[in-house]
Amino acid sequence: MNLKSIAAQFSDVNAAREFFEKQRWPGGTVCPHCGVIGESYRLTAKEGSKSPVRPGVWKCKGCRKQFTVTKGTIFEDSHIPLNTWLMTIHLLCSSKKGVSAHQIHRMLGVTYKSAWFMVHRLRYATTQDPLAAQLGGTVEVDETYIGGKRRSSKCLPHVQKLGERPKDRPAITDNKQAVLAIVQRNGDVRSHHVQRVTAKNIRPILDHNISPTATIMTDSGTVLHGAIHPRVHHQVNHQEKEFGRYENGLCITTNSVEGFFSLLKRGINGTFHHVSKQHLHRYLAEFDFRYNNRKITDGERSCRLIGKVSGKRLMYKDMMPKKDGPTILQA
Ligand SMILES: [Zn+2]
Repeated sequence: MNLKSIAAQFSDVNAAREFFEKQRWPGGTVCPHCGVIGESYRLTAKEGSKSPVRPGVWKCKGCRKQFTVTKGTIFEDSHIPLNTWLMTIHLLCSSKKGVSAHQIHRMLGVTYKSAWFMVHRLRYATTQDPLAAQLGGTVEVDETYIGGKRRSSKCLPHVQKLGERPKDRPAITDNKQAVLAIVQRNGDVRSHHVQRVTAKNIRPILDHNISPTATIMTDSGTVLHGAIHPRVHHQVNHQEKEFGRYENGLCITTNSVEGFFSLLKRGINGTFHHVSKQHLHRYLAEFDFRYNNRKITDGERSCRLIGKVSGKRLMYKDMMPKKDGPTILQA
């Protein structure tokens, strides 16, 4: 599957809908109302009837209710044709550093507002399954800061140095957003937007995502050490220009997580330019999804994403800044 074949094969909306039906219901239609499998039939206009039937409507024999393939998915209530959705999915899944809403708007001829909403709904669909298994084996953990202007304590003497006690002075990272990433070596990544990198904030994230028997590797930051204690923990000392060492046949390094961050930063700096902090967690989900499905083809990745669109709704109003108080960020 590539853009050319999608354009040729799915120039017709009905063909795209049939493709989604095959992807969503490989073992027969599943009624989204009552869950009965394979007991639905396609509604067609009766002979001689003047009232037309909307294409793609199914009727369940169990509960007698009607539905289409978009019911209960991120596509529900969308006026964008399904073949445009399919192309957007492919662009999002095949662009290593992501694709911006402006790019979709220009390439596919949808309004910027529609494009923005589409890519955010798709990002939402890439979100990690909350019941996913914990990461195990060798696990690398690190934090990075995204956005904001770099403030150096050298040119701005009133700016607090890293490690200094917070007083009334702004910290170097004050206008940046902290991202914590956990990477299983040769495996998956899970990244989180955290309000502040403190042992208290990070410990629950680590406990939820990392198996108790895992060996954890970080750089020499003391905050992470506090959050990881008393688990098995190795540190690599970046300040001493050490980027990896071998101990008893085990390579102690954080190069995997650094590699993920470099991809994320190239995406945010090069593709999106600006990411609002209230939406950052969705961009992280998108980058996690592509990284976790990096060993398959673009077409297979697109199908994986189509497999994740069910049971998720994201309304436009939910994405707007909350009027009452600051937006609550993901843990
Ligand atoms: Zn039913």
